[in-house]
Amino acid sequence: MSTSTLHCGPNILESYMSDEDMIMGKEENIECEIIMVHCRLCTAITHKQEGFNIFESDKNIADKIARCLPILIIPQDKFSKYICETCSDQLELCNDLTIKSVEAEKLFKKQLEEEELAKQMSTKKEKIINMNQETKK
Ligand SMILES: [Zn+2]
Repeated sequence: MSTSTLHCGPNILESYMSDEDMIMGKEENIECEIIMVHCRLCTAITHKQEGFNIFESDKNIADKIARCLPILIIPQDKFSKYICETCSDQLELCNDLTIKSVEAEKLFKKQLEEEELAKQMSTKKEKIINMNQETKK
């Protein structure tokens, strides 16, 4: 059984480079790394231009990850700061559902409070009516 390992760090793209790339040496290596990155959420190798920077894109990705996913990503950590387009789309859906569910919960709680208040009011009214009837007798 073979195990696949996710390489992080300088050797990240070694397996994806041809012999020609390897011959070009370290500088080319670094340039290649800058262009291709691992998606932080699914590990897929993605082109930087096609992915989104978690902290620099205008999609508020860091906020959405913090809201929806059980992982902590900070600018100072040593892992990728990019996510792929697929994960970006899924994160949007997840974020929408999270917000929707929070709003739904608020609505249900408000409804319940109103119903309980209405119940209390009607009980009070009944008591007053009963008292009035008692005094008329
Ligand atoms: Zn991804």
